[in-house]
Amino acid sequence: MRIELENLEGSKGDFAHVYQPEDLNPVDDRITLIEPAAVNGKIRLNSNQVFVNGHLDTRAQVECDRCLQLIEIPVNVDFELEYITGSDYRSSSAAELTEEELSVSVFDGEVIDVDEIVKEQILLAVPTRMLCRKDCKGLCPECGSDRNTGDCTCVTTDIDPRWAALKNLN
Ligand SMILES: [Zn+2]
Ligand SMILES: [Zn+2]
Repeated sequence: MRIELENLEGSKGDFAHVYQPEDLNPVDDRITLIEPAAVNGKIRLNSNQVFVNGHLDTRAQVECDRCLQLIEIPVNVDFELEYITGSDYRSSSAAELTEEELSVSVFDGEVIDVDEIVKEQILLAVPTRMLCRKDCKGLCPECGSDRNTGDCTCVTTDIDPRWAALKNLN
């Protein structure tokens, strides 16, 4: 969904949309949506600044970093964004600061792309490292079996070198 700013009446407007998972998948190479994403919010225009605030509800799925088991993550976030038009940004004295330092986004001043906002909020809401549980044992490097479901019979070859030295004495 894209919102044309010139169509806003009285410099403000509301938006609401429900995305089906397939509208946004894949969110990135690790995150997949498994439930519709409901977003709603308000847009307010103030000369060359645009303020967008809203709420997003959905459910995402990622793999455990160690054992690859799928983990479901509820995403329920409030967001508050600020945009500034490109020309205004460049002429302002703040132009030396990076976008990140200002926590604003530069845009063309015409359209707010809600699809992008929703994807960005999902990326921010899902931690970059996810474990199915704190003490996940991961996969065996030899046979690939899930060590959480029981020990395999593989002999791990990574013996502490100090013990290896003792072994040679015998
Ligand atoms: Zn795991
Ligand atoms: Zn194994």
